[in-house]
Amino acid sequence: MMVERTNGPSVLPAARRARNRLSGALLTALASAFGGQGCVPHAPPPMTASRYTGSALSDAEAAQIVHTSWEVLQTSDGGDDVSCDVGNLRGGPVGSVTTFTTPSGVVNVKADYDAIAARDRVVSVVDQINWCDGNETLGPVLGCSDQSGTHMVVVRDDPSAEGILWAHEYGHTRGNVHRGDPSAVMNPYVVSTARRVNSSECANYQR
Ligand SMILES: [Zn+2]
Repeated sequence: MMVERTNGPSVLPAARRARNRLSGALLTALASAFGGQGCVPHAPPPMTASRYTGSALSDAEAAQIVHTSWEVLQTSDGGDDVSCDVGNLRGGPVGSVTTFTTPSGVVNVKADYDAIAARDRVVSVVDQINWCDGNETLGPVLGCSDQSGTHMVVVRDDPSAEGILWAHEYGHTRGNVHRGDPSAVMNPYVVSTARRVNSSECANYQR
């Protein structure tokens, strides 16, 4: 599954628009490990964060972004949006943001993504993402994540949309896929008004 994602021009500065596309990656191994466990529910992994050594993300920033993600999901904004309390996100990342120096902070090929994802952190912040889901000419994009897996890789974004970006990518790791409603968190465009999560998506966030 791969769909591009572009921020609306009214939300973010023009300089950022070029990189505001995002995709979800299907990683078969992780999907089979975490998405194919039959009827046995499992709690989401702790929300932890890691950053490339050259990418800025303080502990406080990470906690704030995750808390904003929780607020986006928890708040009912009308339509099919449900109040989805994802308790795992409420308190922000568990522990401090760790750093890594290799591979580089740029994801250009699958091996780059796999090497970062192998660090087994739920969120890894890098400088730039040019590869996602088998496409080496996709980027730069905002994020790329396991579809029903454990890992998501993001770049820093405008604060008005960063909580939604993380909620969107975390949704992929919980099994949610894109849908077309422009008000949905899982729509493939990062905008500050994309805040809705329906009941089935909520069930995935909470399982
Ligand atoms: Zn996506």
